[in-house]
Amino acid sequence: MEQTKKKDRLALWIFVAMLAGIVFGYIMWHVGQAAAVTAYIKPWGTIFVNLLKFIVVPVVLISIVCGMISMDDVKKVGSVGWKTVVYYMVTTLIAIIIGLVVANLFKGAFPILETSGLEYEAKSSNFMDTIVNIFPSNMWSAFVSANMLQVIVIALLFGAGILVAGDKAIHAKSLIESLNEVVMAVMMFIIKLTPIGVFCLMADTVAVNGPQIVGSLLIVLAVAYLGYIIHLLVVYSVAVKTMGGLSPLQFFMGMIPAMIFAFTSTSSVATLPLNKECSEKLGADKDVASFVLPLGATINMDGTAIYMGVTSLFIATCYGIDLTIGNMLSIVLTATLASIGTAGVSGAGMIMLAMVLQSVGIPVEGIALIVGVDKLFDMGRTTLNIVGDASCAIVVSNWERKKQERLTAKK
Ligand code: ASP
Repeated sequence: MEQTKKKDRLALWIFVAMLAGIVFGYIMWHVGQAAAVTAYIKPWGTIFVNLLKFIVVPVVLISIVCGMISMDDVKKVGSVGWKTVVYYMVTTLIAIIIGLVVANLFKGAFPILETSGLEYEAKSSNFMDTIVNIFPSNMWSAFVSANMLQVIVIALLFGAGILVAGDKAIHAKSLIESLNEVVMAVMMFIIKLTPIGVFCLMADTVAVNGPQIVGSLLIVLAVAYLGYIIHLLVVYSVAVKTMGGLSPLQFFMGMIPAMIFAFTSTSSVATLPLNKECSEKLGADKDVASFVLPLGATINMDGTAIYMGVTSLFIATCYGIDLTIGNMLSIVLTATLASIGTAGVSGAGMIMLAMVLQSVGIPVEGIALIVGVDKLFDMGRTTLNIVGDASCAIVVSNWERKKQERLTAKK
């Protein structure tokens, strides 16, 4: 309760900081003092962005190894485990593709900003190069250059190593789990600094680009929500209808309490108990739900994937970067993995967005553009995240029921 109150207060501060930044930036733009804002206010925002960048490698590395360790449970639950993972992967892939498609459709409405002295360039688009470069030849250089795809491969390999080594890896496992707590605490500390970062960066963006940039934020928000709604109404309806044997209307009506809670709490993990209750009322098997839902709250983030697709394209456009098909494939790959690595807590998706941007060579500073309204993105994406988990619980329960029926019919 106390935690939720604190989070609400932070959200309020972020919102106030955004408004203050817009007003201050507008005044400075009006009096022609943009250069002063860039010289004296923006650097404080840059410190915030630096901290975001700094925490990305440890968060990705540790949280993905931790995710791999939890796959041990997947092995234990046998076929239910693999069905769940495949369902999660496929729906996440569809989500990121929907995100990129809607963002591309509305790309013309995104602005190109004045970004003085910009020397960023989108990274190589050659598909084979992208594949080869995923595999690191030197672990440390991957960390030093924050090459996120390589960091992910390192995490997956070490995670697999821990699983294979079994009991002998018990110390490595507990070290990683304990480090995960530490890294999460540092991440939370950085998230708490968001209001300061938002004020400074927003002030600079508005002072340099003028007030029309605020309208662009509303557009990108609307585009993300369009993606959320398409995914919700098309993908989950089709899934529960064809594979779960449940009418979509019944499904969404039954999910309303959990959806409202997710929308307001912006945390999949906090919504877990309510989500379990709603899913079971809709016919999900108790045992299946108690495996599928907690795993989903940790690794399945369809809303976050859509958000990453839409915002990375928005930020790239703002910086005048034209993404190639190769870049977009990179986004699909990293955003899928990033959404797996995103913790089911408020604001975590924004940190992982930094990793997606970094992997394609889009300036991470661009997060400044959307950070002020991230809470509004988060409300929608968390709602989608938990509905995705519930739809999986319904589908897998139905598959298991049918399997049982087949087995008893054979006997
Ligand atoms: N808040 C989201 C969740 O808990 C994660 C995110 O920030 O994308 O599902």
